[in-house]
Amino acid sequence: MVFTVKTTQKTELIDITGEVQAYVNRITKESGITSGFCLVFVPHTTAAVTINENADPSVRTDILAALNRMVPKDIPYHHLEGNSPAHIRSTLVGVSEMLMIEKGHLVLGRWQGIFFCEFDGPRTRKVHLSLMGIGS
Ligand code: ZN
Repeated sequence: MVFTVKTTQKTELIDITGEVQAYVNRITKESGITSGFCLVFVPHTTAAVTINENADPSVRTDILAALNRMVPKDIPYHHLEGNSPAHIRSTLVGVSEMLMIEKGHLVLGRWQGIFFCEFDGPRTRKVHLSLMGIGS
């Protein structure tokens, strides 16, 4: 399954936990599988996916600010498109997350959410989801 994320900023973290849980709900209902794994994959070279706090939005702001400092814009990159910092941030954060599913629900800590990470927006992006069942 694929869904679209429309980003509106150059860099931003967008909470996609609801979309992923909705997919898990649909597949577990249709298949009868209630435990397994859900792969979240981002097919982009200047975006990523991560799991972090979804309670205090300032955590997202701090993550983006720290990544900006870790990967400066003003060093002499070779990639002529001009978006090397976005490519490097994508590699640092990673383009996939594997989540456990128990009793039809994503296993996440109380304060955890799944975030699509935009590093070269605004763009229309895709997120792929795949569920692997191991039991009912
Ligand atoms: Zn590029």
